[in-house]
Amino acid sequence: MEGRDKSGLTLRELRDLPVTQLRAVGPKLSEQLGEMGIATVLDLIEHYPRRYHDRTNVQEIAQLKPDEEATVTGRIKKVSLRRPPRRRPIVEMELFDGTSYLKLTFFNQEYRGKIPENTEVSVFGRPAINRGRLQMINPAVDILEKVGEPFTGVLLPIYPQSGKAGIHSWQIRKLVSGALKRCEERSFYDPLEKEWLQTYDLVGRATAYNDIHRPDKIDKVFRARKRLTFDEFMRMQLALVARKRAIERESSGLSHRIDGELVPNFIKNLPFALTKDQERVIDEVFSDMASPGPMHRLLQGEVGSGKTVVALAALLLAVQGGHQGAFMAPTEVLAEQHALTLRALAGALRIDEPGSLLGERPVGISLLTNKTTAAQRRQITEGLSAGVVDIVVGTHALIYDGIEFSRLGAIVIDEQHRFGVEQRDLLRGKGNEPDVLVMTATPIPRTAAMLIYGDLDKSELRSLPAGRSPITTKIVGPSSLERGEVYEVLKEEVKMGRQAFVICALVEGSEKLEAKAATEEFDRLGREELSGLRLGLLHGQMPSADKESVMQEFRNGVLDVLVATTVVEVGVDIPNATIMIIEDADRFGLLQLHQLRGRIGRGAHASQCFLLAEPSTSEGQARLEAMCESTDGFELAEKDLEIRGSGAVFGERQSGFTDLKLGRLPRDEPVVIAARQIAEDILNSDPNLSHHTHLREEVEDLLGDSVDFLFKI
Ligand code: ADP
Ligand code: MG
Repeated sequence: MEGRDKSGLTLRELRDLPVTQLRAVGPKLSEQLGEMGIATVLDLIEHYPRRYHDRTNVQEIAQLKPDEEATVTGRIKKVSLRRPPRRRPIVEMELFDGTSYLKLTFFNQEYRGKIPENTEVSVFGRPAINRGRLQMINPAVDILEKVGEPFTGVLLPIYPQSGKAGIHSWQIRKLVSGALKRCEERSFYDPLEKEWLQTYDLVGRATAYNDIHRPDKIDKVFRARKRLTFDEFMRMQLALVARKRAIERESSGLSHRIDGELVPNFIKNLPFALTKDQERVIDEVFSDMASPGPMHRLLQGEVGSGKTVVALAALLLAVQGGHQGAFMAPTEVLAEQHALTLRALAGALRIDEPGSLLGERPVGISLLTNKTTAAQRRQITEGLSAGVVDIVVGTHALIYDGIEFSRLGAIVIDEQHRFGVEQRDLLRGKGNEPDVLVMTATPIPRTAAMLIYGDLDKSELRSLPAGRSPITTKIVGPSSLERGEVYEVLKEEVKMGRQAFVICALVEGSEKLEAKAATEEFDRLGREELSGLRLGLLHGQMPSADKESVMQEFRNGVLDVLVATTVVEVGVDIPNATIMIIEDADRFGLLQLHQLRGRIGRGAHASQCFLLAEPSTSEGQARLEAMCESTDGFELAEKDLEIRGSGAVFGERQSGFTDLKLGRLPRDEPVVIAARQIAEDILNSDPNLSHHTHLREEVEDLLGDSVDFLFKI
């Protein structure tokens, strides 16, 4: 049964079989299953047990000791319900394990009274002596068995059940068992060759599906899980590596000319020298751009590590060779800031224009956002098609129809995780295989990056430009005394000419509520603790013109304190700001806090960040402590993964195709690495998976609607 069985059932076949094809599933049950997201036989088989109940490892009722937690199994007898006046309803029953009885008492759980006598259950609790007998009060109960249908296995799978859908673990177990039995005749097709199984120490697919649902030893569960986890990661890596290869194979990409005056002039005119890291990354980017295949590269770098300069160099390299560049940012504020930086650093540069009077002209830079007027927009569109606009900076307004480039050669996408792969592709589609540089300031743990950005080459800016000053971070409790001290520090700094951010936001709240919170805090601080200082307010609900003028005033030092929502999260660069106060800091994610904090510590003066919070969860506490311990984004990213687990980390990014049923990071790192290896090997010999039809189906089914993502680029 191990290895490749050509005649076996494929996952596609199982996916195409609705659960109603199973004899046990009628209309009602199929509806209930539907509510749990189980529509096909494949869904059912991939509905894995949450844990296993080991029947050999239970105690006998006779051996129970008072106050020692224990699990016992048996059948339910003598169920009774009492409703004492003015007191909670009480359900009492006896658990009989074949030799002795244990009394179970449930307060305020009236529904327990409905359990049929003789149902086999497992209960977990702490026994206590009552009237001379042992009893458990409100123990946890798992229903093992429906009356009259004995389960003979040793390890009993316990499935995630759904109270809402009204389906119990034992029902799912029966259905899965039934489905697996029906699969026995043909068994499962296994896309992995025998040698792979040996190399990676994996069991066959049929064994894996059977053992995860019907194990006789717990070791077998582990091996089954390993194989199924491997499959999950392998499909994902096949998709990512295939896409990466397809882009690399594309030989019609541009070879940008490396020689020219523009880029050297740009670098010469910078008010600082490039860091070693920047030089290295610019080299990596330029060598991609010079080669005929299109660049598809991720630039990861800490907030403030100087990614923008790298981005500009890439755009200018394209311009130097006679192409256009596009720079897409996730927010208006950021797009505006990038345009500003670009004009400051490159506005004075000139490019050759043979045929014109002077033989040269300034680099044409435009800004395109949602607030660009129709007239400006027309002008930009015309400039783009006429080729006098060399670089356009903008928000996702750039990907709308009607924006046409005459010769788009390079694209930079900032803060990628706010854009989907689809948007990346829409922008690419406006050029003829343009080079793409994706930038993220959210450092991603290495293996997580293999999942999320597995289709990109990677560069990192690790070191910050010299001259950065340290940031100290403190957790501050909610008492007014502690708050008062923080405001004193702030006022001291302002007295010395520095500036401060006060961030208030309801993370779960709407932008409107956020705006309200910020406005109230702005009013309060102005009246009370910070009266006399020059305060500004910035939130997402303000008209763009107001936002811009507030930012301008803060930048110019006309304002001392900026009270803001997370609008200032990324890209805002005010070297004179040395204080950041974050209200309700425990409500933010670790990396979001880190992003916010990156707004300070950008100038010559030491900075301080105050996290105002009284965390109510240990996770919240752990996040704040991590913030105090480190300012290294990569370190914090690993920490974040540890605290939250991969499900949560991926949840906020991109599409469903990084959803994992079994896989977990960082636990499964070695599996990801092995899966990547196999994916590369398979695609080396079979780039389009045309000799691995079923594997290709699995990848296509994983991608669903975003299947264009594969092969076709
Ligand atoms: P990022 O985009 O990675 O957050 P930026 O490119 O905005 O970082 O750079 C942050 C600040 O550091 C900017 O003010 C920029 O001008 C400055 N900077 C960039 N590179 C250097 C360098 N090599 N030396 C000194 N300052 C630099
Ligand atoms: Mg930036």
